[in-house]
Parts: sequence; C-alpha cells; structure tokens
Amino acid sequence: MRRVYLDHSATTPVRPEVLEEMLPFLKEEFGNPSTIYSWGRQAKKAVEEARARVASLIGAQPEEIIFTSGGTEADNMALIGAAYANQNKGKHIITSSIEHHAVLDTAQYLMRQGFKVTFLPVTPEGLVRVEDVLQAITDGTILISIMHVNNEVGTIQPIREIGKVAREKGIIFHTDAVQSVGKIPVNVQDLNVDLLTASAHKIYGPKGVGCLYVRKGTRIQPLLHGGGQERKRRAGTENVPGIVGFGKAAELAGRELESEGRRLKALRDKLIEGVLARIEETRLNGDREQRSPINANFSFRYVEGESILLSLDMKGIAASSGSACTSGSLDPSHVLLAMGIPHEIAHGSVRMTLGRDNTEEDIDYVLEVLPEVVERLRAMSPLYNKGK
Ligand SMILES: *Cc1c(COP(=O)(O)O)cnc(C)c1O
Repeated sequence: MRRVYLDHSATTPVRPEVLEEMLPFLKEEFGNPSTIYSWGRQAKKAVEEARARVASLIGAQPEEIIFTSGGTEADNMALIGAAYANQNKGKHIITSSIEHHAVLDTAQYLMRQGFKVTFLPVTPEGLVRVEDVLQAITDGTILISIMHVNNEVGTIQPIREIGKVAREKGIIFHTDAVQSVGKIPVNVQDLNVDLLTASAHKIYGPKGVGCLYVRKGTRIQPLLHGGGQERKRRAGTENVPGIVGFGKAAELAGRELESEGRRLKALRDKLIEGVLARIEETRLNGDREQRSPINANFSFRYVEGESILLSLDMKGIAASSGSACTSGSLDPSHVLLAMGIPHEIAHGSVRMTLGRDNTEEDIDYVLEVLPEVVERLRAMSPLYNKGK
C-alpha cells in the first residue's frame, strides 16, 4: 500500500545529511563544550558553527541566538523572560487567540502571576488585524506576541506591520516562527521583531532542540539557572548533536527555500482545488492567499474529522485534525472556533501539511481516496441524509 505522510506541521523526518553531521557528536566527538581540551574545543566549535547557520537563515547575528530544548521552551522564555525583566514598566501583554498552546498557556500562567493579557480576535480568514493590535496597546503594554504562520490553518500574519507599530511604541515584539522558518522567507530585520522562536524538528532536524532569537539590547530574564552556558541566558550543558543537526537543517532549508517553496505551493494548490472540486459541502479554512505553502485545512460537513483520519490511516495516509497537541481530546480546535466556525463544522476538520517527501502521485492518491472516505462516512450520517 502507498504511504503518504501529510502531517509535516506536527513533525518532519530527520534528513540523512542532518543525521550524518550529528553522528560524530554522539560518538567520538562527545566532549562538553565548556571544557578546554581538544574534545571540548571541537564540540564548542561545532555549536558555534551551528549558531552561525541558524542566525544566517533568519538574518540575525550569531550572538543573538539562544539554543533551547525546542519551540515550547523558546516561547516560554520569550513570554516569561520578557514579562519578568520588564515588569517595572508595566504588566500588560498582547497576544492572539490563535497562538500555539506554548504561547497561550504561558500567557495564562502569567495572568495567574498578576499580568494582564489581551487575547486578540481574528478575522473569519484567521488573520490578526493590525488595527486591533494598535487599539489594544495601553501605557502598561510591555510585550506583544503574535505568531508568524499559524500551525493549524497556515495563515501568514502581518508581522512586519505589527512589528512597526510595536517599535514605534517601544514595546517588545515576539513572534513564534516555528511554522515559517525554513518554509517562507524570515528575516528579523524585515519583520521588525525583537524575539523569535524556531524549532529544529519542523525543518527536518532532530526533536528536542530549537532557539530563541533575542535582538541585541532586548531585556529578558533566564528561565533556567545553573551553568553559564549561552552567555548566561540558558543554563545546562548544550545538546551538541541536536544543535549540530539544527544547524545543518537550517543551512539546507535556506539553500532550498525558494525551489522547495515553489514546488510545495503547486502541490498544495492541486490538493486544495482537487478536494474542493470533488467533495461537496467542503470549505477551506484559513485565508487562500496569506497562506503557508505547505498547509491545506478543510471542514467536511456532516462528518467527524477523527473518523476521516482513521479511515485515511487505513489507506496509508497520515493527516491531523486540529493540532497534534489537542487531538485525543474531543474539543474542536481553538483556532477554528476563534475564526467563528460553528462547533459542528469545526468537528469535521482535517489538516494536511506537505513536505519534502511528497510528490504529485501522493496528491493524486489522496484525491482518489478522500472523496470515497467522506462519502462513505456521510452515508452513515443521519444529518447528511436528512438534507437529501
Ligand atoms: C511545534 C510548534 C511549537 C512547539 O515546538 P516544539 O519544538 O515541538 O516544542 C510551537 N509553536 C508552533 C507554532 C509549533 O508549530
């Protein structure tokens, strides 16, 4: 049976070139980068090379990159670190209602610590409005955190414009760019951001490593205390093989950004147009234009997203309903609800996210299997039959 992986926003496989560069650091080059003999110096050199590669992918200086255990830790560090370091100036934070849980739950944690948080609404297309950001700003606003590309519906937020507003008001601006780095152009200067989160396993690197970009001069407090690693901003012996893998993945992603972006966009459009043409009472969630090249998110009326996933799995196709973190619970996605999609329609949603390993034949296969699956499930739905 054909196997088609369409969940690249949940995670990606480690590229062979990435694994190749990591292996020596799991074997003979096992030194601790904080030591002064040759083992340590080799490890240190590799970490610094990776730092330069990651920095280059996002237009940053190497010393502005702090390696972390992943996107989640970087989001926590950005919000908690900036909130505590700047609370003398105010206690108000602005974010959106469609953020990843690493931001949403951290914002809620900060509310329990006495900070005030505004969760901005989004348009029915899943976009934050710059005017809403402007209106929400008060004298006490110290931090704005708006994601670059949404992980569920793939919308690309107006980060540059929001960054401009934040800069004019002297407010720290963070973006969770886990779903944009390595997929669309990301440059911290163009985007006017002070803090930016990235993660290796979403760009064909290993799991358990990511980074926070911290613009020179931006005040944040460390989350982890201990050794003096990462210029005293993130204690703990470095995950050397992981960091090396992240560096290689970043280098490759930068090199192939344009060609792979173009290829995936064409596959995405074939998938979106094919599904909408073949399956009635189906909608595409998320703006059609301001959209990640890898994302297609559909709602199929009268069926459960979970049932579709199970049927697709039996045909060798992996997709997702809502985000990986919330699947397993039966609540519809907070992102779809924030976009104003009714519960019963949000329940019938499926996200397909493309990647390097996908081909035209994969899309043809999905376009053959998916209409049959939806039709069979709808045939069993009393609601669907009543309408006929
Ligand atoms: C995956 C993801 C994260 C979490 O990154 P991890 O490295 O898995 O901790 C954060 N934000 C977004 C938008 C993501 O897609």
